[in-house]
Amino acid sequence: MTIKLDEIDLALLESLVADGRKSFRQISREIRVSAPTVKLHYERLVNIGLIKGVSVDLDFGKLETKTSAKLDQIRHKAVKGHKIKFDKGLLVKIACDYCNGPVHDKPSILKVGNQERFFCCTSCKTLYNEKYRGRIESLSNK
Ligand SMILES: [Zn+2]
Repeated sequence: MTIKLDEIDLALLESLVADGRKSFRQISREIRVSAPTVKLHYERLVNIGLIKGVSVDLDFGKLETKTSAKLDQIRHKAVKGHKIKFDKGLLVKIACDYCNGPVHDKPSILKVGNQERFFCCTSCKTLYNEKYRGRIESLSNK
């Protein structure tokens, strides 16, 4: 399964890659969408595992483009610390949160607090649920 990044996601990523310590309000002014919208998009990118930390450490291995040359270019620039221009149509690969295998178009989704976990099959979802039961329950009861 892949999740398509929209224009707001891309603008947000470009802004955060340049400076990961910006506030949602600063980003909101910069990319001209409301601060709550910025926050929603940010949280979604965290949720799907693309944004791995507040310093915006992107997993370029999760990105896909229609042309791999384009992606190599993005990775190359990222490694060298250049300003990256993200293109429309970038896709984020989703891996199973239990077995780390590829998740196909109909994932099993588990809501944990306000986050979603993605699984390749219902048995991975069940196993994850059993393994992390205590944590899942404490998050759900907040
Ligand atoms: Zn799995």
